[in-house]
Amino acid sequence: MSTLFTKIINRVIPASIVYETEKVIAFNDINPQAPIHILVVPKKEIPTLNDIEAKDCEYLMEMYKAIKEITRDLKIAEDGYRVITNCNSHGGQEVFHLHFHILGGKELGTMLCSK
Ligand code: AMP
Repeated sequence: MSTLFTKIINRVIPASIVYETEKVIAFNDINPQAPIHILVVPKKEIPTLNDIEAKDCEYLMEMYKAIKEITRDLKIAEDGYRVITNCNSHGGQEVFHLHFHILGGKELGTMLCSK
C-alpha cells in the first residue's frame, strides 16, 4: 500500500505543492508549526532515516537542493530556518516516508524538546 506522501506525489490526495523535480516534491504542511512549514519528500518510499542506503544519495542531494532553492525563493535563506527529520516513535514520526520539515519565517528560538 502506498504512503500518504506517495498519494500526494501521484495526485490521489491534494496538497499545496511548492516545488517539484523528477526525484523530489515539496508541499506545505497541513498543520503548520511556523509561518513557513514545508515538507520535502523523495519520490521513493524510504520509510525512515534509518533506511537510507548509499544508492539513495541522488534523492538526498535533490532534497538538499530543494531546501536551498525553496528557502532562497521564499527569501528566508539569509535570516535562517530549521530543518528537521523525525525518526520512529521517540522522534515523533507519523508518516513513514522520509521527509525533511523546513520551518521558518520567524525566530524559532531554541530547539524544542519537552521533558
Ligand atoms: P512526521 O511527524 O515527521 O512524520 O511529520 C508528518 C507531517 O505530515 C506532519 O507535520 C503533518 O502535519 C503532515 N501531514 C499529514 N498529512 C498531510 C497532508 N495531507 N498534507 C500535508 N501535510 C500533511
